[in-house]
Amino acid sequence: VSLLGRVCWPDVLDALLASTPELPGDVALYLQPHAVLSPRHRVLAVCAVRAGPAGCAAAAGDIAGGWLYNAALIAHRGLSPAARRTAFPRFTGWLRQDPALPGLPLLCLAAAHAERSQQPLIVIAADLRPLALGRITRRAEVTIGGRHTIATLIELSDVTPDTWCHELGHAVDPVDPRLDAVTAEAFADTLGALLLTERPDSLAELDTLIARAETEINQRPTPQCATGSHDAPATTTVSTNDIDVRVESLFAFAKLDLRGWRPK
Ligand SMILES: [Zn+2]
Repeated sequence: VSLLGRVCWPDVLDALLASTPELPGDVALYLQPHAVLSPRHRVLAVCAVRAGPAGCAAAAGDIAGGWLYNAALIAHRGLSPAARRTAFPRFTGWLRQDPALPGLPLLCLAAAHAERSQQPLIVIAADLRPLALGRITRRAEVTIGGRHTIATLIELSDVTPDTWCHELGHAVDPVDPRLDAVTAEAFADTLGALLLTERPDSLAELDTLIARAETEINQRPTPQCATGSHDAPATTTVSTNDIDVRVESLFAFAKLDLRGWRPK
């Protein structure tokens, strides 16, 4: 029996739901056809992401909970609606902010980073609720003034500085792609909080904060299933192929046994 097989997933889902005041979003979200995830697995994915790493650990134990949060993030990404817009008018400079968005902090810094990495940054308002407050696509295929190019695309449902700084934290993450979603989120959370409090105004200051965030997340233990356990599922085997890891995690998530679960 694998580690994941020993967990009673219907109980985990009940525990996550008990910590969520109400099921986030429209019931239709859970019922629309999906190639991989059943409606129950979609509820689990949304609740696990909402609960965060600590909530998942409380519901499923440290090891399975760490895996659950990571896999749920990957499953969750597949549920988010596709980017609405990929065509943008020509703009000068390296950053284009949707005119519908209110002023955001650190835009000059974001533009300077985009220029240094020689990849335009586009920030747009989008409706990603209830699945996400913001989303980043680090190598989005877009057209700018009719020309195909690769840009960093940040979509914001929530225009608070917190959400923006979290996504900006992802945008400037020097490690791309990160092999696991938990580390990527930990980095963006840590750097996002530093950006908010420190308000760096030069790339040199930004780099100092990036190094600080990297040190902080490396000092934390990373929840992983595969640490030396012979019956850990293959999904957590460290692989240099990010796509394989993600696909395997998604399928392992989709196979979690939720048959006994009934809405209360
Ligand atoms: Zn994030």
